[in-house]
Amino acid sequence: MRNDNQNDRERIQPVPKHKEWKCLYFERGRSGMEDDWPKGLCRYCKLRDVCTLPKPAGGVWHCQHYKAMTSRTTLYDTVKRQLEKAEEAAHFDRDICKILAETQNELVVHFPVKRDNGTVHMLTGYRVQHNNILGPFKGGLRFHPLVDIDEVRALATQMTWKTAITNIPFGGAKGGIQMDPQDFSRQELEKISRRFTYALGNNIGPDYDIPAPDVNTNPQIMAWILDTYMTTVAPCERNRSIHVVTGKPIEAGGSQGRNKATGQGVVYVIEKWAKDRGFDLKGCRYIVQGYGNVGSWSARLMKTHGAVLTAVEDVTGAISNREGIDADDLAVFVKAHGGVRGYPKAREIDREKFFSTTADIFIPAALENQITAETAPLLKVKLVAEGANGPTDTEGDRVLQDKNIEVIPDILCNAGGVVVSYFEWLQNKRSEFWDLEEIDNKLRKVMINAYERVVETAQKHRVDNRTAAQILAVSRLETVYQERGIFP
Ligand code: NAD
Repeated sequence: MRNDNQNDRERIQPVPKHKEWKCLYFERGRSGMEDDWPKGLCRYCKLRDVCTLPKPAGGVWHCQHYKAMTSRTTLYDTVKRQLEKAEEAAHFDRDICKILAETQNELVVHFPVKRDNGTVHMLTGYRVQHNNILGPFKGGLRFHPLVDIDEVRALATQMTWKTAITNIPFGGAKGGIQMDPQDFSRQELEKISRRFTYALGNNIGPDYDIPAPDVNTNPQIMAWILDTYMTTVAPCERNRSIHVVTGKPIEAGGSQGRNKATGQGVVYVIEKWAKDRGFDLKGCRYIVQGYGNVGSWSARLMKTHGAVLTAVEDVTGAISNREGIDADDLAVFVKAHGGVRGYPKAREIDREKFFSTTADIFIPAALENQITAETAPLLKVKLVAEGANGPTDTEGDRVLQDKNIEVIPDILCNAGGVVVSYFEWLQNKRSEFWDLEEIDNKLRKVMINAYERVVETAQKHRVDNRTAAQILAVSRLETVYQERGIFP
């Protein structure tokens, strides 16, 4: 069977001059930092059976994940380019754009964790605070092998735009640890989460910088962070610190609806998009990339409209069924098996076929830089609703525009998570507990309002939705900077 692995093998030859493609894992294995690393194999890619090539004469390994890291543009390049585009279109104050183009604070911590086998393992964690003129820094924590300072800078910057667009009183931040959680036991993950929290110290805080879940982090990890943070503050401060993280389990002070919030927000804006066009979601076809928190919730909530899920891709592979895949049933399977691969009620397809699936709506809900000059031409959809952060790079965006594929951009589309995080934060501060109906109603209102303002801005400035969302965010920040002035 010809699969995407073969395509990758062909595409990645030869290694370009001055730009080596190296596999992150191979490098680690070679440097001996990971004693238990299977030398000579890229373990992460092996999950997808990609990086099993023999070592080429040049001495470096080819790896599609590393290729993504070193390829044309990084997410941070894309984020900066989007700001420049908005600046050009709306003629913002140049000095204010200079401030917004930079991050405010950047923290890199290297910390040890004792593994179950008694050895010590060093990890690197990041927290980048982009801007807090609208309120405390706010943003998720990601545990992933490709986390690096540039990625965290980009994601922190995007958080500032999201909070500005949705009119919530937070700034933007992001953090993460460069690691693959699959390599660690539950006990080790707990130790890592706690030690990272300790390393961050008072660089986070309930009214200063408030983390939340992101890729490979979840309510349990938030509970460990909360518990660790609370033990580091004075006893009389502890109960006033419960809002140091959001996305907590309900019993530990979390909010109804936070777990599904990002997917719910995605579906609210899709509903609005469909309503404005007289498009019937019932019976429409959609495909989803990533079946974690955002992807699986988006898929399950689309199902409630009678929409038909026909293809899904995640890190383990891609599946398709023209008759429809039951989103709830697939979520149960993924929870039990760790991915969509092997789901018995669909057939396995390769990445190219996944992107070529004919559908009405595509919800990318995995990682950044997935819709590129290579994959965008394959898409046969009417709408891309960006559940992930930065799923479309600059070249991919151009292709989508050429093909007249509409886009609900990430900084609008996936803002539901931070909006319900704000609700959780407010409930904690006021010792209140809102019911799900109240949360959903409030979230819908915020998302629809933000959507309408993006569409109005697009019409006013005659720009695409992505640039409009960016303009909307910057104009709010510009107003506040102009009112407050620059110290001193
Ligand atoms: P998650 O860890 O729950 O799920 C990630 C999913 O992406 C998994 O299904 C994984 O298999 C898949 N994936 C990873 N690498 C892939 C690859 N190379 N190809 C295909 N699939 C791959 O993470 P999440 O919280 O659902 O986050 C997904 C995206 O949504 C990220 O971009 C994140 O920043 C963004 N986001 C998340 C939230 C939130 O509240 N969790 C809020 C806003 C935005």
